[in-house]
Amino acid sequence: MTSIIKILPPQLANKIAAGEVVGRPASVVKELAENAIDARAKSLTVIIKDGGKTLIHVIDDGNGMSREDAALAFERHATSKIATYEDLENIRTLGFRGEALASIAAVAQVELRTRQASTDVGARVIVDGGMEPTVSPDAFPVGTSVMVKNLFYNTPGRRNFLKNNSTEFKHIFDIVQRTALAYPSLAIRFISDDETVLNLQAATLVERVKDIFGEKASQTVFYFKQESDLAIISGLLGKPDFARKSRVEQYLFLNNRYIINRSINHAVFQAYENMLEKGSFPFFIVFLEVDPHRVDVNVHPSKMEVKFDDESSMYKFVLSSVRRSLSEHDLVPKAGIREESSMEGNLGLRFQHTGSSEERAASWRDLLKRDGASAGTTELYGARSVDGEMKTSSQAAANPQASTGSAAVIWQVHNKYLLVPIDEGLMVVDQHAAHERVIYELAMKRFAGTHAKSQQLLFPQTIDMTPGDAALVKGLQSLLEALGFSLKFFGKTTVIIDGVPVDVKPGQESAILQNTLDLYKEDEHNLKLEPREKLAKSFSCKAAIKAGDPLNQPEMHSLLDQLFGTEIPFVCPHGRPVIVKLSLAELDRRFGRTS
Ligand code: ADP
Ligand code: MG
Repeated sequence: MTSIIKILPPQLANKIAAGEVVGRPASVVKELAENAIDARAKSLTVIIKDGGKTLIHVIDDGNGMSREDAALAFERHATSKIATYEDLENIRTLGFRGEALASIAAVAQVELRTRQASTDVGARVIVDGGMEPTVSPDAFPVGTSVMVKNLFYNTPGRRNFLKNNSTEFKHIFDIVQRTALAYPSLAIRFISDDETVLNLQAATLVERVKDIFGEKASQTVFYFKQESDLAIISGLLGKPDFARKSRVEQYLFLNNRYIINRSINHAVFQAYENMLEKGSFPFFIVFLEVDPHRVDVNVHPSKMEVKFDDESSMYKFVLSSVRRSLSEHDLVPKAGIREESSMEGNLGLRFQHTGSSEERAASWRDLLKRDGASAGTTELYGARSVDGEMKTSSQAAANPQASTGSAAVIWQVHNKYLLVPIDEGLMVVDQHAAHERVIYELAMKRFAGTHAKSQQLLFPQTIDMTPGDAALVKGLQSLLEALGFSLKFFGKTTVIIDGVPVDVKPGQESAILQNTLDLYKEDEHNLKLEPREKLAKSFSCKAAIKAGDPLNQPEMHSLLDQLFGTEIPFVCPHGRPVIVKLSLAELDRRFGRTS
């Protein structure tokens, strides 16, 4: 038997930030569980008593240690996982600092038993309060068991610092749960004060979510995966209807290590922008896989903080990946009573929400039952709504028969909602919210640089503004111009509009500008949104058709065409639903039809 553990040279040891490894019982559980995983265990048992204060016992069926290593493992900076600084830069194991066992043994009574498959005789090591280990042969199954008794018995100060048993239990529970989510194929048993808290079989991630959070939760998440040169991101995203009132159920793992990173969490949250009510948070379990060279996990001994070499690219990657995954899923809020909806099976619009906006709009048009008859121009405000950026509507204008010539009749009710027959039943669309979404995305595209088309006004309009509003217009002038406004100042507070974005309704030019500014001001102190987003939101709200505006068939078809050409047709920029679906199954049920 040879020893594989090496003592780190002092220089390297110094490079590794010093700090406390063992803060509370949960940190002991975390370190021991990580060692088991590094040893390639397939099953893990965690037994605690009194919130871990009197006993923490972790048993694994991993590789085990030789007798020599079993004793050496308790030396400070003893590790089999890295040997050089280069290794430190390329960490693929959870442990590497070589200080967990040493630290634990310094403040508790520890008994370690272990055996490797290559030998019949295992080893038993006893260390008491950091004294020299005593080693003896032992009969033990392959794997390792570490029993930690009376944590902090020799450091009364630390011991008194511990919280009550139930608080310490909760911390341990969190650690076990995170481990369970990060390693679904690891069987885990967790026993506290002789009661089995968790008994998890090896599983897939979704099965594990079901075992931990329940059936309902597992049905409201979907798997996603995206890749780039920077990283691979995958995991489970909760649908907006499963949003939570707190951030507790958000799990982020970097190279399978649970981490806390506000920036990445925020990126995921941001991707749900406008899909969630205020004050609710998405449920997610996100795994990032990043080349270890690109990330420093050695910021703190707990290794829960990490530093990315390029934080802002990582932010963008996470944001865009999650956003894309969300938009590829049918996130239309279901009509009807929520509890019932699980019985309906998958009611997804059979609509591929991928591809270019034209492809999306085309796929959407296929959905419409072609039994009605109506033709004509498909523009919302006559020719003025034709915008080079919205090819769907301009194509439709060129060849109205092709796109909507024989499409279904859409009903407008109360000049507010559109009733649209689809294969699976009926779709109800809020006309204002739909148009808002269309204009919002166009505005954001224009900000992103695509050249805005401006409609020159025959009769420029003059607005006398308050000094405050005039200053606001000055500050936003470049964004307003990117949007398609053409503005001139006359004196300090008089603004002349001589051009407007093509989506502005004729005759409403100055009202829309003024109302947009008013709405912008309401949101002005919202630091979470960039000015351009705030402007796009307020402009889309004010420029969009209103509830109460009558629409004819071509206008309604054009609106739906444009809506389904957007990235996220299902929610308006303020987070309200745009579409509610009523499935045939749901209607049948309500009318008592059993077929
Ligand atoms: P680190 O995990 O940072 O290397 P530790 O003090 O946690 O440091 O462990 C020291 C060494 O003891 C590890 O590198 C590993 O070789 C060995 N070891 C610890 N726990 C186990 C285990 N459960 N199974 C096999 N080997 C282990
Ligand atoms: Mg370790």
